[in-house]
Amino acid sequence: MRRDLEPVQASLAAEVDEVLDALGPGAGVRESFEALGVAGLLAVHYPIEYGGRALSLAHHSAVAERIGLRGLPDVAHLITVQGVGCPLLTFGSAAQREQWLPRIASGRVLASLLLSEAGAGSDLTRVTTAAVQDGEGWCISGRKTWSLLTEWSDIALCSVRTRDSDSRYDGISLFIVDMADPGVRIEKAPRASGEPYHTVTFEDVRVEAGALLGALHKGWALLPTTIGFERGGFDYLTRAQVWLGAAGAELAALPAAEREALAGDFTRLEFLVENARALAYHAASTADGLEMDETVTAYAKLASGLAAQSLARWAGEELLSLPGTAEDGPVRDLLRAAVAEAPELTISGGAQELQLDLIAGEFMIGRAVR
Ligand SMILES: Cc1cc2nc3c(=O)[nH]c(=O)nc-3n(C[C@H](O)[C@H](O)[C@H](O)COP(=O)(O)OP(=O)(O)OC[C@H]3O[C@@H](n4cnc5c(N)ncnc54)[C@H](O)[C@@H]3O)c2cc1C
Repeated sequence: MRRDLEPVQASLAAEVDEVLDALGPGAGVRESFEALGVAGLLAVHYPIEYGGRALSLAHHSAVAERIGLRGLPDVAHLITVQGVGCPLLTFGSAAQREQWLPRIASGRVLASLLLSEAGAGSDLTRVTTAAVQDGEGWCISGRKTWSLLTEWSDIALCSVRTRDSDSRYDGISLFIVDMADPGVRIEKAPRASGEPYHTVTFEDVRVEAGALLGALHKGWALLPTTIGFERGGFDYLTRAQVWLGAAGAELAALPAAEREALAGDFTRLEFLVENARALAYHAASTADGLEMDETVTAYAKLASGLAAQSLARWAGEELLSLPGTAEDGPVRDLLRAAVAEAPELTISGGAQELQLDLIAGEFMIGRAVR
């Protein structure tokens, strides 16, 4: 059963369409984000004084879904507004909130989330990038990986080790880093499809004491807010929805006999995507303010990632292996890109096994695992 948007969600989605339609098809990504920011749509769940509309995460989800469905790279929105903006909103000092949130909500500042390292992805306690005290401030050195659209970023929220400790959850701190600092080096790294990854190297990057987000050494506790919405599934869901649309168009163009033979598979995939959508909205609407339930988001990420992957696999094995019904074109290109991108969906935002661990932990030993 298809989940209808609530009236406020539907009207937000319509506003996104209006803004993007007014820009026309030739508009660039940054231009589109700025126009959405000017219209007050990028961060509707922020307080009004920071450029939001004081709405809920569930309302924001309808915007995120619409942005993804319109083909904008949701990563910029997801990482900037959610991954960096929400921890600033929740844990930032008044000065940090005033400095960054209105600029994030207006689309003028884009941000990166620099958590992963070569040996620290699903397990973010293994970070080796370190900050050492330097007078009143800190000096950061180390290397971060798997960041997308990093060249656009003005700032980054970066996890670093600030002290060694017997507990691996202790001694991690989060800092806001200026990406224009001369000690920051950004290099492209290969990716199977789409925009390349970036590696970001910090060489003695000095940050002031005011760049620390939350309590010193206690950054681990901030991470669920930081990655919660990413795990809520909308990023994966909108891919699944776009790929479903493309697969549907390709199917419709097949001769009747072939179309009928594949129709049952397609209906099953439509169910998978719709179920994932229901879970993603459930995860957002059951959030406590901006805090999402870790177990519910783990389910949502698994459901939306698996739906997108099943679709891409099916499209690759069944649709793309058929001789083209029409000339090769954008729909088949999109499905080919889906096949290339799909394997990543098991791993970004924390590997599927980690999500299963989180769910198992909830059932076996309850939430107070850490
Ligand atoms: C498209 C994309 C965008 C990304 N964007 C960002 C970003 O903006 N910022 C950022 O900091 N990071 C980003 N990442 C990194 C991402 O968060 C990590 O890749 C992810 O957390 C997995 O970590 P890893 O690569 O170290 O692999 P690992 O976690 O080390 O996984 C390696 C292997 O071990 C398996 N595994 C992992 N955990 C378990 C477990 N508990 N039990 C059993 N097996 C396990 C995995 O399935 C995999 O096969 C991005 C990744 C992708 C693919």
